[in-house]
Amino acid sequence: MSGKSKKVKVLVRTRPTANFAHDMIDLQPDGKTINIHGKRDDRRGVVNNQILDWSFKLDGVLHNASQEQVYDTVATDIVTSGLDGYNGTLMAYGQTGAGKTFTITGATENYKHRGLIPRALSQLYAEIDDRPEYSIAIRLSYLEIYNESMFDLLSTLPESLAGSNYNPMTVVEDENGVYVKGLSCHLAQNEEEALNLLFEGETNRAIAAHSLNKQSSRSHCILTVYIESRSRVQSEAKYTTSKLNFVDLAGSERLGKTKSEGKTQQEAMYINKSLTFLEQTIIALADKRREHVPYRQTKLTHCLKDSIGGNCKTLLVANIWGESQQIEETISTLRFATRMMCV
Ligand code: ADP
Ligand code: MG
Repeated sequence: MSGKSKKVKVLVRTRPTANFAHDMIDLQPDGKTINIHGKRDDRRGVVNNQILDWSFKLDGVLHNASQEQVYDTVATDIVTSGLDGYNGTLMAYGQTGAGKTFTITGATENYKHRGLIPRALSQLYAEIDDRPEYSIAIRLSYLEIYNESMFDLLSTLPESLAGSNYNPMTVVEDENGVYVKGLSCHLAQNEEEALNLLFEGETNRAIAAHSLNKQSSRSHCILTVYIESRSRVQSEAKYTTSKLNFVDLAGSERLGKTKSEGKTQQEAMYINKSLTFLEQTIIALADKRREHVPYRQTKLTHCLKDSIGGNCKTLLVANIWGESQQIEETISTLRFATRMMCV
């Protein structure tokens, strides 16, 4: 078992734009390497030691890729593994506006623009039909984490999202794994029922954003698919359970110091902390010598504890917005992405 099997697969997806800064963001023909050619800030008049050229190597670069291409590259295997009993996590990372939500959820009203979640649901039910020897139940939950508070996006009481009545949920660990106590979990008998739940969750996400006067880009959203499977042919067969998480992370951008005050600053602090611990958790998991994995430091990593690392399949899509004004955030996203590549 000395195998250096990678724990996290990392792909970069570019958001299509007419102003893609090809002079700065140089996509190599191998489809895996991005070279960045920075520009000196001549206004400063001095040549400083700032590094201006970077080379980033990823598992793949999806440039102007369609939703279908992205799905086939990142999700098909994880979904099949989920049915085979392995937990999996698909995450979208990047600055606000880079295409995380488009990647994870997509435009639900436009079939062609459906994102990973609706496509995964479609694949799941199709594969279930191909496994008649198993009895398989699918349940969904949809959790939003904002400033370390958790919200149930599938709660039957939308008022609970309105702000006053936070359903106090907690992350619990027992012999069955990690789960969020108080988070509702809904049986979905077929694709249509599952899509209706997703739609309900999206609506609640929008309502919650509105009523709390927060931008949805300031929170993490996790849609979890719970798969419970039992052989119909083996009389003594036990249930196997697995989970697939689809995580739309909060925007990774660093706010200008002038802009961040009060509430915005608090949001930024929570996001920074959770993304930093996400990174540290993934790195610690990969390093067998490290015994301490800092899962419990944030809700995000605690919730994902049994779905990243170990036998789980974890994949990160780093979304970049390749316009020249966004170059600093692009570099920051690519740096995060390549740190995950070392894992
Ligand atoms: P984020 O969730 O990272 O803040 P969004 O997914 O909301 O970003 O994307 C910002 C805007 O760009 C949205 O209007 C979205 O529809 C559009 N967009 C992002 N990625 C793509 C893409 N690959 N193809 C077409 N439109 C996209
Ligand atoms: Mg978004």
